[in-house]
Amino acid sequence: MKYISTRGKIEPIGFKDAVMMGLATDGGLILPESIPQIGRETLAAWAKLPYRELAFNVISLFATDIPKEDLKALIDRSYATFEHQETTPVVKKDGVYILELFHGPTFAFKDVALQLLGNLFEYLLKERGEKMNILGATSGDTGSAAIAGVRGKDNINIFILHPHLKTSPIQALQMTTVLDDNVHNVAVKGTFDDCQDIVKQLFNDLEFKKEYSLGAVNSINWARVLAQVVYYFYAWGRLPEQESVVFSVPTGNFGDIFAGYVAKRMGLPVEKLLLATNENNILTRFVAKGDYSLGEVVQTVSPSMDIQLASNLERYLYYLFNENPARVREAFAELQKSGKIVFSEAEVKRVQEEFLTCSVDEQMTLETIASFNKETGYLLDPHTAVGVRGALECAKGHPRVICLATAHPAKFGDAVEKAIGTPPPLPPALAALAGKESRCEIMEADREKVKRFVQGNA
Ligand SMILES: *Cc1c(COP(=O)(O)O)cnc(C)c1O
Repeated sequence: MKYISTRGKIEPIGFKDAVMMGLATDGGLILPESIPQIGRETLAAWAKLPYRELAFNVISLFATDIPKEDLKALIDRSYATFEHQETTPVVKKDGVYILELFHGPTFAFKDVALQLLGNLFEYLLKERGEKMNILGATSGDTGSAAIAGVRGKDNINIFILHPHLKTSPIQALQMTTVLDDNVHNVAVKGTFDDCQDIVKQLFNDLEFKKEYSLGAVNSINWARVLAQVVYYFYAWGRLPEQESVVFSVPTGNFGDIFAGYVAKRMGLPVEKLLLATNENNILTRFVAKGDYSLGEVVQTVSPSMDIQLASNLERYLYYLFNENPARVREAFAELQKSGKIVFSEAEVKRVQEEFLTCSVDEQMTLETIASFNKETGYLLDPHTAVGVRGALECAKGHPRVICLATAHPAKFGDAVEKAIGTPPPLPPALAALAGKESRCEIMEADREKVKRFVQGNA
């Protein structure tokens, strides 16, 4: 299996190089040259497999340059850290299925991808005799999942910047109580934007980037999307009957729902993908009206979806534009110039054949947490509630709607308490954080200081 760029300006590369490249060197995103087609018989066989075996079957179709035994070991190691023996179990509540993706080490779905990515990085760095210094900024969730993915791994250091005292206390503790030598937390006296600016500037410092082999773990890495494709097949296989389904996906960067789109293209019988957004609804406008024009980011109770520019959308656009990289380049040049992309009527119609969409505001989100809890006794986190509300609004009555549960409610206790009046019970691993030793460097929002800190600890 070879990989190409959505912008069409790189030579085809193998899976291993695609993982190490991250963002394509022509500024595009990496995609497989062709998507493997899964026939009905294979689908039926996959429906019965335990998670890790299924993951091996799916991933080995794409990672053809890693020996099968090695790949199997990498997958086993990645999902051994999940607390639930099913890895991503499915439960049925109030007429909808809930795919619980939050049983990993940091209680959010990003673990599914980042546990595998961490192990892949370690494996590939060892093979190449290289080292990597991962540098990233986080407003909360991604940072802890990235740290959990690479803690204690050989030849990797990770430096994560978060805004000092501006994440939730649990989110900060999830990062700073990881004491492995290769983990470095920096609390920046400033905002998330300050953190992100510093990281961007350091990546643009090409000499520094090269000398210190800076690496990123953002959601544009193909391996992250690939790891997520697995649970769409898994969830479908857990239903009582293997018929066509609707998936409802709370969406920010379009990574998770794009994995569902890949599963659909592989042959999984997905009737529609329901793209649910919070008040940051650029993607809902895109699906509903073909309107993709950038707005301002607003803060919501589902902060991991507070995004305007959905970086993974480019992957979908490549297919929407009939795999024509010239049209992708044109569209992104247009976006840069005018802040929007214009779509033809035929293109909008195609989008609507594949996606449903719904935007859910804060009040609806909190109402949904409360009413769902009252009717079923089940507690939704605010991100999951956006998807569940979307399902109840625009896929009502469909017998097989699967809602992706992207975080454990205890991670977003304030919003849950606002909805139901009491804070959610903490799982023991989260409750234990408060008493643990922590380590964190508090620093001015100063690029040079962060740079020296990286140099001193790399
Ligand atoms: C990252 C995240 C999302 C959004 O996923 P995308 O792949 O960015 O669309 C939704 N919910 C939670 C809890 C997340 O952490």
